Amino acid sequence: MTAPLDLLDLDPSLTEEERQIRDVVRQLIDDRVRPHVADWYEEGRVPARELAREFGKLGLLGMHLTGYGCAGASAVAYGLACQELEAGDSGVRSLVSVQGSLAMYAIWRYGSEEQKQRWLPSMATGEAIGCFGLTEPDHGSDPASMTTRARRDGDDWVLTGGKMWITNAPIADVGVIWARTEAGVRGFAVPMDTPGVTAREIRRKMSLRASVTGEVVLDEVRLPADAQLPEAVGLKAPLSCLTEARYGIIWGAVGAARDCLETALAYATTRTQFGRPLAGFQLTQAKLADMAVELVKGQLLALHLGRLADGGRLRPEQVSVGKLNNVREALAIARQCRTILGANGVSGEYPVMRHANNLESVLTYEGTSEIHQLVVGQRLTGVSAFT
Ligand SMILES: Cc1cc2nc3c(=O)[nH]c(=O)nc-3n(C[C@H](O)[C@H](O)[C@H](O)COP(=O)(O)OP(=O)(O)OC[C@H]3O[C@@H](n4cnc5c(N)ncnc54)[C@H](O)[C@@H]3O)c2cc1C
Repeated sequence: MTAPLDLLDLDPSLTEEERQIRDVVRQLIDDRVRPHVADWYEEGRVPARELAREFGKLGLLGMHLTGYGCAGASAVAYGLACQELEAGDSGVRSLVSVQGSLAMYAIWRYGSEEQKQRWLPSMATGEAIGCFGLTEPDHGSDPASMTTRARRDGDDWVLTGGKMWITNAPIADVGVIWARTEAGVRGFAVPMDTPGVTAREIRRKMSLRASVTGEVVLDEVRLPADAQLPEAVGLKAPLSCLTEARYGIIWGAVGAARDCLETALAYATTRTQFGRPLAGFQLTQAKLADMAVELVKGQLLALHLGRLADGGRLRPEQVSVGKLNNVREALAIARQCRTILGANGVSGEYPVMRHANNLESVLTYEGTSEIHQLVVGQRLTGVSAFT
């Protein structure tokens, strides 16, 4: 944390080990992401496999999981890593989140010992890439209505359907695919080279351009019985994976906001208009002060939720509070910072508009803000407004 933005002296409330992990990830992002990310973004590509291997070397993939080559780090350490990753780019953080908190977590939590042995060690090193297919073209916020089917044929399973907006799908080796069976929703670890699986890249995204997103078509995909994740029973299984990933987003969004604010602060102190730096105008200071206050509130919230997670006490609706607040405020900060940069705010030479555009996706995926409002609303009122 650069000193001026750590208004509340949060740094000393981190352990030495947590600070070290944060600093190592920050350095990696400075070396490997910052110099290139504007080009990746503009060109709509990212060297995801290369990055995954580098992240794997640092133990960032499945970082908070234990065994199978995973680092077994604390929730706070994982969150701090997400903060630094997303200060680089939300797409880069998404690569890590989807790999570790969605695909690896699903196999780690719900898979058989054979599935864990087969996939987790190579996913932890970044040799194998995973994706997580829940959303469908016609079913996003309401995954209970999914139409992808898995039917039994002898001992085999046969999957038919389609998944949409699936991060990493076109480059993935394994997809955790959720499908409806006669007994309810079940999960499957699907090798992406299985006949009948196709993953087409979704182009023309105006957001998360340094992230690979795909549409998965499942056309009579025949899988052996042991492709099913044996412990995953019902929709609560994929929803629990989403809770994991949302936790990382709570921290990540703060990272993107911090990068915007650091950029705006530096710009405001060097850019001169009417004979004085922009930072000398009261209106600019008001903007900076309000944003810094929201930033530290977001950091405090993330840290509090992280400590709850490390104590085994974090509840899903608390994760909704964090995701709702931190992404919404991060997006507001990014938009406000853009104004401070004037015309340069719309340029890819600065990271601000890239973060703002990215945060539009972050606002929508892993539960839209409206869905998180409904989760919190249900907790407050005892009434579900979903159905
Ligand atoms: C870049 C990107 C990457 C993604 N990666 C993945 C991935 O890896 N895996 C995956 O499974 N999915 C992924 N998603 C999909 C994402 O999770 C969905 O887009 C999200 O759940 C919303 O679904 P939807 O887009 O179908 O919107 P819809 O569900 O159609 O919602 C549209 C609007 O209606 C609102 N709405 C819906 N229902 C209600 C309600 N009951 N009350 C009030 N408002 C409501 C929503 O909040 C939203 O504002 C990704 C999306 C993006 C953009």
